[in-house]
Amino acid sequence: MDNFDRDHLWHPYTSATNPLPTYKVASADGVYITLEDGRRLLEGMSSWWCTIHGYNNPVINDAAKRQIDKMSHVMFGGLTHEPAIELGKLLLSIVPPSMNNIFYADSGSVAVEVALKMAVQYQAARGESRKENIVTVRSGYHGDTWNAMSVCDPVGGMHSLFGPSLPKRLFADAPKSRFDGEWDPTDIEPLKRVIEKNGDTLAAIIIEPVVQGAGGMRMYHPEYLRQAAALAREHGMLVIFDEIATGFGRTGRMFAWEHAGVEPDIMCIGKGLTGGYTTMSAVLATKHVATTISSAAPGVFMHGPTFMGNPLACAVAIASTRLLLESPWQERVARIERELKEGLAPARELDSVADVRVLGAIGVIELKNAVDMESIQRSLVDKGVWLRPFGKLLYTMPQYIMTSDETEKLCRVMVETAKEQRA
Ligand code: PMP
Repeated sequence: MDNFDRDHLWHPYTSATNPLPTYKVASADGVYITLEDGRRLLEGMSSWWCTIHGYNNPVINDAAKRQIDKMSHVMFGGLTHEPAIELGKLLLSIVPPSMNNIFYADSGSVAVEVALKMAVQYQAARGESRKENIVTVRSGYHGDTWNAMSVCDPVGGMHSLFGPSLPKRLFADAPKSRFDGEWDPTDIEPLKRVIEKNGDTLAAIIIEPVVQGAGGMRMYHPEYLRQAAALAREHGMLVIFDEIATGFGRTGRMFAWEHAGVEPDIMCIGKGLTGGYTTMSAVLATKHVATTISSAAPGVFMHGPTFMGNPLACAVAIASTRLLLESPWQERVARIERELKEGLAPARELDSVADVRVLGAIGVIELKNAVDMESIQRSLVDKGVWLRPFGKLLYTMPQYIMTSDETEKLCRVMVETAKEQRA
């Protein structure tokens, strides 16, 4: 067996000297990945939540091939192209109506960097240069780059490791009222206290609307968003929604802000944007944010990545977004939600399980103890399923094309696997 991968390739959050085993993929099609040893696995992660249409989709494949034959890339400084324009029009038709200006970026983390910079530059342009810090809630996740890390959960994130060199952000306790439960009016108090005390130094709040993803797969009450946005605006702050994980139908709405009906000033999207074909993200802003930034020195927004507006990524994103809009995605996600609720419910009875929660095409079994990655991964693969649990969370984010039989299998394997865990 060739050990090149083990000896030379770093994998996400993995030791270089004692890496956990990796499984070599030969190909992927629909909702299945085929390993090099011939095993076919039902893929329940949408490859970290982005392959919403499954793998090897002929329509997206075709769009990518046609674009490659024209141009794969061209710089966006001083040049423009039809895929960027067409994608922009398409995006403006599905995001909150207040969104007007689009900044294409490379990945989710970069989108978060761009959004935070936008907020700070906006405040400076208004003569509010004291307003340069950011508030967020605990249990959040916004990416792995420097500023993105600074607004991730300070305990579960990487603050203990990088703490002293990260910008110091302000944190309020995470919302506790469940999405499917009663709103507890005291839930907003921690954020209210932080904002009332520090509002004059705060440029913005950044938050994942309704679902906190990699910070704990928590689903909270939309009333929190309404009150958080109102508080922020009372204190002259911008509202940034990180919809990188929640966008493109994942929670049952096209974007999760719709559950609350409150529009952001700046919004980050990524992941499902390209159907998981290429890396790409976008930051959208209101006309007011864009014109304010442009009205003060230096008169431009100070960011410009090499691969900004990459035509290949734009072409793929257009094909993926059109495919989504032309599909009965609401019914599909609603059906998957019903099946996940039904299929995962038996896990509630298990001694090893702390909680089960489902929203849209997101199904979570929270265990009482952290999993042993190596053994749980092997056991899932042996059962013919690809899932990638983390910490105490065994969860799925299926592709919207998954059939009822397939979600049933996924749920069965998840419940069986939860049963095998320590109580
Ligand atoms: N924000 C959220 C809400 C995310 O879920 C993620 C990725 N899991 C990111 C930002 C970072 O995106 P990327 O990994 O593409 O940098």
